[in-house]
Amino acid sequence: MKHLIDKLYETKSLEKQEFIELIQNRSKDDEEYLFKLARGVSQKIFGNKIYLRGLIEFTNYCRNDCYYCGIRKSNQNADRYRLSKEEILSCCEQGHKLGFRTFVLQGGEDGYYTDEKIVDIVSSIRQEYPDCAITLSMGEKSRKSYQKFFDAGANRYLLRHETANEEHYKKLHPENLSLQNRKRCLMNLKEIGYQVGCGFMVGSPFQTVQNIAEDLLFIKELSPQMIGIGPFIAHHDTCFANEPNGSVELTLFLVAVIRLMIPNALIPATTALGTLDRRGREQGILAGANVLMPNLSPVKVRKKYALYDNKICTGEEAAECNVCLRNRVSSVGYEIIENRGDFKEI
Ligand code: SAH
Repeated sequence: MKHLIDKLYETKSLEKQEFIELIQNRSKDDEEYLFKLARGVSQKIFGNKIYLRGLIEFTNYCRNDCYYCGIRKSNQNADRYRLSKEEILSCCEQGHKLGFRTFVLQGGEDGYYTDEKIVDIVSSIRQEYPDCAITLSMGEKSRKSYQKFFDAGANRYLLRHETANEEHYKKLHPENLSLQNRKRCLMNLKEIGYQVGCGFMVGSPFQTVQNIAEDLLFIKELSPQMIGIGPFIAHHDTCFANEPNGSVELTLFLVAVIRLMIPNALIPATTALGTLDRRGREQGILAGANVLMPNLSPVKVRKKYALYDNKICTGEEAAECNVCLRNRVSSVGYEIIENRGDFKEI
């Protein structure tokens, strides 16, 4: 498959059929060759620097019922919590001391946090930490709401598209959710001026190689600043409790493919990768990822934000995670850098 990898490297994309062929016929040698190219691209643009994003999981209430997600509305066993504005600000304070210059507020779609509340929280973070980027990841909202958050000082928004195939989307989500709306949200966010992140789970139930090729083409078309992919991991209280987990190896392969497609993208080595493989995040970096998203949530809520089973880093304090991550990053020859790590045009 070396010829397809070379073509991908040179033209930054492939035809759908070629993506399928590459994924289906990939060998260990192909993988090594691809990772080497992806690392080279990443190092040329970012050097050996890895950006940190402090993840604050501010609520696990959710009005949605996505079949794969542990905090779906109908999971009666989820122990629900919300963080107050003061708690969120104290996570930021701690994060800032540890060198974080991006805060990511992620949560379920929780009606308790009205636009006014989010605007208040975002403006307070903006005021106290003018040198930091604020990323939101709170699902589908109206364009008006996205605009208000942006005006309050938010810079980036993560909204994985989950799958670019309509039929597959319906197999992962209840009737009231649609791929069309998800895409509309991404377009609105982009038009407003956010740095936008999309992405998908590798090995989600019913996913085919064709679907993955469609995801890659969608990513190319949207051309987002950030792309988050991680393996699907079953959660015991969901419809997909007995489904197999996604493949770490394929996730790494796709991280590298995406690095070649969008050389300057910000691509995290996700917590899900680290959950399925002890050195998953390090391997992610070696496949071309350049972002890590350590948890800044108060330890008392960490186990409750369980999107999937066995999530790592739910027992440690942020400071401990910080030391651990720095060691992991340096073990593969990289270094954490303390700045916002904004997307840069090349
Ligand atoms: N409510 C927000 C945040 C969702 S959680 C939103 O709608 O965007 C962030 C991501 O975690 C999701 O987009 C999904 O891709 C991923 N996720 C959810 N359940 C998962 C599971 N069981 N395994 C792996 N990743 C999962």
